[in-house]
Amino acid sequence: MAIVHRIYNFSAGPAVLPLPVLQEVQRDLLALPGAGISILEISHRSKTFESILEQAEADIRALANIPPHYKVLFLQGGASLQFSMVPMNLLAPGATADYIEAGSWGEKAIKEAKKVGNVNIAASTRSDNYSRVPSQSELKLTPGAAYVHMTSNNTIEGTEYKDLPDVSDVPLVSDTSSDMFSKPIDVARHGLIYAGAQKNMGPAGVTIVIVRDDLLQRSQKSLPTMLNYAVHAENTSLYNTPPAFAVYTLGLVMKWLLGRGGLPAIARANERKAAKLYAEIDRTGFYRGAAQKDSRSLMNVTFRLPNEELEKQFVKQSESAGFDGLKGHRSVGGMRASIYNAFPEEGIDALVQFMSEFERTHG
Ligand code: PMP
Repeated sequence: MAIVHRIYNFSAGPAVLPLPVLQEVQRDLLALPGAGISILEISHRSKTFESILEQAEADIRALANIPPHYKVLFLQGGASLQFSMVPMNLLAPGATADYIEAGSWGEKAIKEAKKVGNVNIAASTRSDNYSRVPSQSELKLTPGAAYVHMTSNNTIEGTEYKDLPDVSDVPLVSDTSSDMFSKPIDVARHGLIYAGAQKNMGPAGVTIVIVRDDLLQRSQKSLPTMLNYAVHAENTSLYNTPPAFAVYTLGLVMKWLLGRGGLPAIARANERKAAKLYAEIDRTGFYRGAAQKDSRSLMNVTFRLPNEELEKQFVKQSESAGFDGLKGHRSVGGMRASIYNAFPEEGIDALVQFMSEFERTHG
């Protein structure tokens, strides 16, 4: 098999996938072993696809140690549709949902929830430009809230929660789109967890929802069928045609993660990779981390240069040097290196070397 040249992909998502997974996809694309038919062609009602879906779920459960009283759903519409589905299913008329606002994606979740029902902003770091996540003491929680919504990792700003907030017995709902399966996750402390696949889990097109069984009782029959969690749970994510290719590839990524030693092992690798990059950012005053140190993300490393002109040059020269996707999100500027599970450590070493050389010649 010819090896094509692959650049270092720092994109925030869709993002780098493990090379062995891509090779397996390529090898089996014309015919799945034993099936004689491509994953792109196969019926979602076939035994072969059913077992692909079941295996993907089993591997997700094993990886994240998901208790039996949680369902794992494979949905479409991205994490963005969850911004609507969460309140439509979990927020009863007259009840209030608490939202922790710690970044631009959280803002979007709030905007959608407000269309559905009562929302209380339990804490916000907007006035700090979302450079940190709120502390426990800042939370103003509503007694008896329908749920508390948080974003575990803020993809755009480069911040993350180090410890889950304590919300007592109110269901915690977490958007984990950009750090799902990058470290162990305490599922039992959540009511519902959702994440689009296209950062740490696979290609775009499938969204994972992990939901505690009792919460499914809140889904009203009057909801549009496709937006009803209980319908998807009853039909084991086969109410309609699922995104078969995305589910299949996600399944291969789960196997790759298990083969690497599971979430504790991948977390250690992620910590090591991020530490190297933050060390370079902190080495002199030339680069400046955008996030406050105790909120720094291990997945999206955001930083600034002394001025915007240098930032433009940095982007341009890094692209010529084979680094793609380092330009920060258009809403915040600066740089962002997204270094998800599949991002190779040698790519971090290469970037650190590039940064140090850039500083030497421009500092
Ligand atoms: N939440 C977070 C934290 C994200 O990073 C993103 C995508 N970058 C989204 C939600 C939206 O995801 P999607 O594009 O799958 O709707």
